[in-house]
Order: sequence, then C-alpha cells, then structure tokens
Amino acid sequence: MANKNIMLTPGPTPLPPQVLEAMARPLIHHKTEEFGRLFVEVIEDLKWVYRTKGTVLMMTCSGTGAMESTVQNLLSPGDKTLVCTTGAFGDRFVAILKAFGLSPAVLPFEWGRAVEPEALRASLKANKGLKAVFFQHTDTSTGVVNDLKTLAAIVREESDALIVVDSVSGLACEPLETDAWGLDAVVSASQKGLMNAPGLGFVAVSDRAWAAAEAAKLPRFNFDWRTLRKFLADRETPWTPAISVVVGQAAALKLLRAEGLESVWKRHDALAAHARRAIADKLGLAFFAKNPANILTGVVLPEGVDGTKLLADILREEGITIANGQLHLKGKIVRLAHMGYISKSDVDAGVEALASRLAKVKA
Ligand code: PMP
Repeated sequence: MANKNIMLTPGPTPLPPQVLEAMARPLIHHKTEEFGRLFVEVIEDLKWVYRTKGTVLMMTCSGTGAMESTVQNLLSPGDKTLVCTTGAFGDRFVAILKAFGLSPAVLPFEWGRAVEPEALRASLKANKGLKAVFFQHTDTSTGVVNDLKTLAAIVREESDALIVVDSVSGLACEPLETDAWGLDAVVSASQKGLMNAPGLGFVAVSDRAWAAAEAAKLPRFNFDWRTLRKFLADRETPWTPAISVVVGQAAALKLLRAEGLESVWKRHDALAAHARRAIADKLGLAFFAKNPANILTGVVLPEGVDGTKLLADILREEGITIANGQLHLKGKIVRLAHMGYISKSDVDAGVEALASRLAKVKA
C-alpha cells in the first residue's frame, strides 16, 4: 500500500505526537501567570539549545521576520555590512538590508559550496569599518553547512563587526555554540530542527549585540528587541499570541532535553549518512552540495527529467512531499530533508518513491 502524508521537507517538518497532543489542549490565555511561566520555560530551554547564557527572544513571526529583526535592531542608516551568500537565504539578508536603505557588500559563493575562510578574510581586509557580517549556518536552498566556528574566529581577528547568523534550518540539527564561537545574533524558527509548527521566530542576542541595539537608528516598526526584553523580564507576552505554537514548542523542547543535544546532533549525522547511502544505492545520482549539511540532501536529477512534475506525481500518488530546487535549480534538483522528527523509514519511503518514479520516467 502506498505511504500517505510523509513530509520530507526542510521545514515545516513532521511533528512528534507529544507536540500535536500539546497543541490540541484547550487554549490558555496568554496574559496569565501560567502562560508567563511556560514562556520563560521555553526561553530557558532555547538557551540550552543555543548554548548561550545571553538573551533569547521569541516573536510571533516566520524565520524571515526574525532575520529582519536583526537588521532593524542592530543597524543605523549608512552602516557598512557584508553578507556571505551561499544560496537563496543569504540573498534574503541582502534584500532585507537593501529594503532598509543599506548597501551591503556581498561575498558570493557558487551554490553548493560553503563560505571559504580565506576569501572571507580577504573580503574583511578589503571592507574596513563593517558594522555586521551575515552568514547562514546551513543554507536550505543548497543543503550546505558553513564552518561557523572558523568563520567567526576570522571575523573576530580581522574586525569588530557583529556576527549575525541565520540558523533557521541549522539549530538543533548541526552543532552550534553561540557563546563559545562568539556569535552575536543567531536567528532561528520553530518549524525545523525544533520540531514544532511554523509561527515562532527566535534570536539569541549577545551583550555586544545589545550594546548595538541600544544605539541603532533604523526604524523598528515591529519587534523592537528592547521592548521584547522588557516584556520578558516582566513575564508579559503580548507579542507572542501564537499560544498553541508556544505550547507545542515547550513540548518539543522537552523531547530534545530528554534526548540530549549531542545525541540530537549525532542522530542527524546518522540519518544524513543513512539517506546518502540509500540515495547512492537506489538512485545512483550525484549529490548537489560539496559541503553537505545534515539537514537535507540535494540530488541532481538526470538531464531531461522534469523534477517539478516528478515531485507532483509522487505527492499525488504516494502522499510523500519532497522539496523542489529553488530559483534556477527548480526542476533540476530535489531536496530530501532528514531533519527534526523525520525518521529513517520516512527517508526510505522517499528514496523508494524517487527510485520507482525515475525508473518509470526512464522506461
Ligand atoms: N533561513 C533559512 C536558512 C531557511 O531555511 C528559511 C526557511 N526555509 C528561512 C531563513 C526563512 O524562514 P521562514 O520560511 O520561516 O520565513
């Protein structure tokens, strides 16, 4: 019998039953002591995932909203910035900076490749007086992981710039050490490694970033971190009315806590290795990323195969959702996710579906 409704997408990801059950409970009012306690519990658990003693802020928004909050809270008109781009999400930081009237310098890398440390160093030497440097931890459009530990150390050696990281798809999937690596603002969201529904954006904020946030002059129409910090101190939660998603996040974080963060990372390592073995054995196609992350595997389709149709057929007939390539890679690669609550049997079903469909296309 066909598999039904298996989500192999790099966000949203399938939800553990404990999270579904928590979200199905009767609503609690978000301006109550009870919700305030839960809110603080989620923040404390997020600090544990982020490996930070600094502040973690929670907002009702997408990952993109949390990315935008880093720009408007840290920067002033005329500030110099550098964005290292390895795919669609680095380009998104560039677009946000431009929308706020800034003119970022861009250090682009070919899709499928990670940021090269020495190219970063050269760019930092050429661009003096930077206020912030932007990175992706993992770029979901290509399935690449960046070596943030090395890259952050180079930024610190060469400049005083703030280090801003998009770990929307990396957090709780790949090792990340916010404090130990000296990261200043690390963005994430609820719907990927954090095993929850979409709806919450997070940012871990260092002391250096707080100093910048006190002085920054860009308009803060929404998500002013200073207000969020005050709300947090007062246990007020008016900017987080997505009550069910916060309740779900608390349940998901409990599961991660019980498993242990190193074990969570190892599980992703093992599942990524399993997926790549299965893809190599059953599909024999090339992998897209040169520096592959544990979050997903990009698979290059044979010439002449219409990936968009292939994935639509698999979804319609087998109930399995696999992600398409983005922008110029649409229809040319597929992105099979192995993050969060996705299991080995989910991955096997996805690879099997791709294998049998591709065999039909070739026949
Ligand atoms: N950055 C990365 C690396 C992502 O994978 C995503 C979501 N695919 C985002 C940012 C944006 O998150 P959202 O879709 O929640 O706005």
